[in-house]
Amino acid sequence: MKKIAVLGSTGSIGTQTLEIVREQKDIEITALAAGSNEKLLEAQIREFRPKMAALWEEKAARSLQGRVKDLPVKIVSGMEGLLEIARMEETEILVTAIVGMLGIRPTIAAIEAGKTIALANKETLVTAGHIIMPLAKEKQAPILPVDSEHSAIFQSLHGEDGNRIQKILLTASGGPFRGRKREELQQVQVEDALKHPNWSMGRKITIDSATMVNKGLEVMEAKWLFDVNPEQIQVVVHPQSVIHSMVEYQDGAVIAQLGTPDMRLPIQYALYYPRRKSLSGRRLDFYQLSSLTFEEPDLDIFFGLKLAFLAMERGGNIPTAYNAANEKAVALFLERKISFLEIPEIINTCMEQCRFIKQPDVSEILETEAEVYALIESRW
Ligand code: NAD
Ligand code: MG
Repeated sequence: MKKIAVLGSTGSIGTQTLEIVREQKDIEITALAAGSNEKLLEAQIREFRPKMAALWEEKAARSLQGRVKDLPVKIVSGMEGLLEIARMEETEILVTAIVGMLGIRPTIAAIEAGKTIALANKETLVTAGHIIMPLAKEKQAPILPVDSEHSAIFQSLHGEDGNRIQKILLTASGGPFRGRKREELQQVQVEDALKHPNWSMGRKITIDSATMVNKGLEVMEAKWLFDVNPEQIQVVVHPQSVIHSMVEYQDGAVIAQLGTPDMRLPIQYALYYPRRKSLSGRRLDFYQLSSLTFEEPDLDIFFGLKLAFLAMERGGNIPTAYNAANEKAVALFLERKISFLEIPEIINTCMEQCRFIKQPDVSEILETEAEVYALIESRW
């Protein structure tokens, strides 16, 4: 039995992770953590019988403890609770499917405790990659990507030990607004932005796909995961989302991973790496795939993607400013308080105005987040 803990078990990645556990039957769930969805977490506790579970608010955790008092499960709360779960003796793999920078400290704690990380929480690497990656190397803790593009790259690197990466080709669907002109984006509504052509995901990441900020975050994530320079990462718009990303080697060979858009595949690959297991679901039908097409992204229209390359070049806490500003701007857009095109403008302003720190530690990363939030609250 593999032993895994899931942070963010009630979300999109978390529930799909549990679907795999349900299907495979050889994984034991040691712990589950969620933000506030007490009902679903209770159902998950009853089904998967973890030793520990967490809800963020202490009051909610106490209420949950009362509801599951017939079971031998310890309910914890807050950051202390997440850290306790991250370090649990019994766990082999920690799935980080939580959203935002909240994931940084539990990820560090798990690496220090020698756990394998199945990493979905891209914000952790974007903001703290300079802390996480050297630590993982020192502790020899594997970091296995769950994000579909990074899993594709990881799969394309398999068996290529020692061969230098020439270039990473990070594919992007282009989202619902691919090919639109700037004027056409002025009036788009929340509903338009939430219509992703290929993937079904949480609301925040769906908006990030429409702005292509998600690809920007993934560019930074790739830099850390695969130890490449910004110039070695090329974003390729590929509207069919069949090729999930590619690696070009020194001899010009390009290796890619293809599949239907189903997050369960990269999640399962991370859980069983390096083994492949069967997985239910649709398969690619090459007779039906009449064509695969590729385009260059328009960085003037998708300004948020351009800003990611700038943030990566400036380094330090600027990627944190980028990520924090985007989080707040997306929330404001979802509340219909700002327009779609204001999202990258807000990111740009925050990147310019935040206090630069070259080598931020975890508390400075969180301070930058707070500084950016305060700036946005005072102006928008
Ligand atoms: P989601 O919003 O669907 O789920 C987030 C989860 O985090 C929920 O279970 C929520 O309860 C939990 N959470 C929130 N606040 C918490 C707190 N304070 N304490 C404990 N748990 C808390 O998000 P998602 O779409 O599953 O994405 C999760 C992460 O995976 C993100 O970093 C995202 O960028 C990344 N990711 C998602 C997808 C996807 O297809 N959804 C693909 C690639 C990467
Ligand atoms: Mg992705």
